[in-house]
Amino acid sequence: MKNPYINDENMDELYSNYENPGRLFLETALTQMPAAYAELMGNPGTGEINGIVRFYPIGAGVLVNAEVYGLPAGVNPCTSDIFGFHIHEGHSCTGNESDPYANTGGHYNPTLCPHPAHEGDMPPLFGYNGSAWMMYYTDRFDLLDIIGKTVIIHSQPDDFTTQPSGNSGAKIACGTIVAV
Ligand SMILES: [Zn+2]
Repeated sequence: MKNPYINDENMDELYSNYENPGRLFLETALTQMPAAYAELMGNPGTGEINGIVRFYPIGAGVLVNAEVYGLPAGVNPCTSDIFGFHIHEGHSCTGNESDPYANTGGHYNPTLCPHPAHEGDMPPLFGYNGSAWMMYYTDRFDLLDIIGKTVIIHSQPDDFTTQPSGNSGAKIACGTIVAV
């Protein structure tokens, strides 16, 4: 399906039909097909993680919506349930025994900025009893540039400081971004 906003750079015109950008974003997510998505899957070592990330181009930016289930949920209330979340430059959710997603490589970072200024850096997922839901709007990347790349969920919070990936631990789930 063709996204009606994909070639529209005129945000004023887009927003003029709405009280605020949030209404445009929410209505887009409720009524439009995403222009691209990634189906996230865990592996035998990380359990039954599954989810979807939807990408909606709006004006000059992209609305990103993540919906994930089966994340680790600790019984200890002091256990972190925050998970680093990034677009990686590799094109395949494959790897080796010690790193099942080794071929996803590092964060998508065509301008060679330090973390967390990578184009592929996204807000971390906050778990809720093993599930997570998150939506944000960004102009860090163009949709066409991320098609074919991979979305990774990490086992640990992103500290937004440590190079090159925020010390966010193992890659526990992965999905390849495909155009609709
Ligand atoms: Zn990064």
